[in-house]
Amino acid sequence: MNEHPQWPAWPPPATDEQRRALLRVLDSGRWGATSGTATEEFAAAFARRAGAAHGVCTVNGTVALFLALRALGVGPGDEVVVPAYTFVATATAVVLAGATPVTADVTEDTLHLDPEAVRRAVGPRTKAVVAVHLAGAPADTEALRALGLPVVEDAAQAHGAARDGRPAGSLGDVACFSFQSGKAMTAGEGGIVVTGDRALYERVWSLHNVGRSPEGGWYDHPELGWNLRMTEFQAALLHPQLALLDGWIDRRAQGAAALAEALGDVRGLDLVPAPAGTSRHTWHLAMLRYDPAAFGGRSKAAFLAAMAAEGVPLDAGYRSLSRLPYVRAGTPCPVAEAAEDSVVWVRQPMLMAGAAAMTYIARAAHAVRLRPGPPAPA
Ligand SMILES: *Cc1c(COP(=O)(O)O)cnc(C)c1O
Repeated sequence: MNEHPQWPAWPPPATDEQRRALLRVLDSGRWGATSGTATEEFAAAFARRAGAAHGVCTVNGTVALFLALRALGVGPGDEVVVPAYTFVATATAVVLAGATPVTADVTEDTLHLDPEAVRRAVGPRTKAVVAVHLAGAPADTEALRALGLPVVEDAAQAHGAARDGRPAGSLGDVACFSFQSGKAMTAGEGGIVVTGDRALYERVWSLHNVGRSPEGGWYDHPELGWNLRMTEFQAALLHPQLALLDGWIDRRAQGAAALAEALGDVRGLDLVPAPAGTSRHTWHLAMLRYDPAAFGGRSKAAFLAAMAAEGVPLDAGYRSLSRLPYVRAGTPCPVAEAAEDSVVWVRQPMLMAGAAAMTYIARAAHAVRLRPGPPAPA
């Protein structure tokens, strides 16, 4: 095959505006969220963009979920339903809050949380459901809300996403985003909780600021709380990205469309569709369904190794959370468990490499198919 494409780096090169904003914070001497204003300004701007009235910046996305759950009153003895196919932090945040995660299976077609499986996983101790906007496509939050439980959006992969025209961040009771280095907006680390509920916002604010109240003194701590605040430097890096986000999403969407077209004539490798109702997919990932039978019985691991040798570093994706020792198995999760052997990912920076690079991925898959592979395990 030809020279393989150059895969873009993520995060992208810093802009002049980011440099200026960083230096403004540096020179101000006000580096912490309690002394400067950059964090609060960014939180307000991000929340507005996410269709929510309020935002609280945090250390990372995991503690954003922890704060949202605690603010909803989740604690020891409670259970929270999470999808079996998601990043591990969706479940560990529940453990951090003192509660037990219960996994519910995902749907065969989209790999998103299956509302029917959630209904079966709900019990007398269930306090909330975490709806993960997997890969950048919003979960079916209406179906989940119909169960009558508070819905926390795990929007760590879905900055700028929308369902039926409504932004991720406004689809549940409270939503959490991550700014870790692999995410669509990033400061290396960071997170935010957004909500339209004033009372929830005040609780999250207090919990993340050592239990303080807005009117109280520095050493008044009417609530149990922790220091989970973001720094002003992170907000300085993040705020200018709000103006770049749409352009990045468009580029990934073009990449995903080119990839879908190129894969049209690759048997056994198909794009996993987004849930119906997705009106803005941010393409954090393009998830692909891999059929070993169409590739001479090659295991997924063998396929990934062969693609890597062609210069296409695909990702193996998640292990089902249903297998984790600290998760209470709710309903059986055969779909998430089967995905371990049949789903591969193209990550967001690769989707930004342009249409020719997407054609290259499809041609590499063709080349791998034609090569004699290891025999399938018995
Ligand atoms: C990244 C991610 C998180 C955790 O965010 P961190 O900032 O890394 O703590 C939670 N849930 C999902 C779905 C994620 O992708």
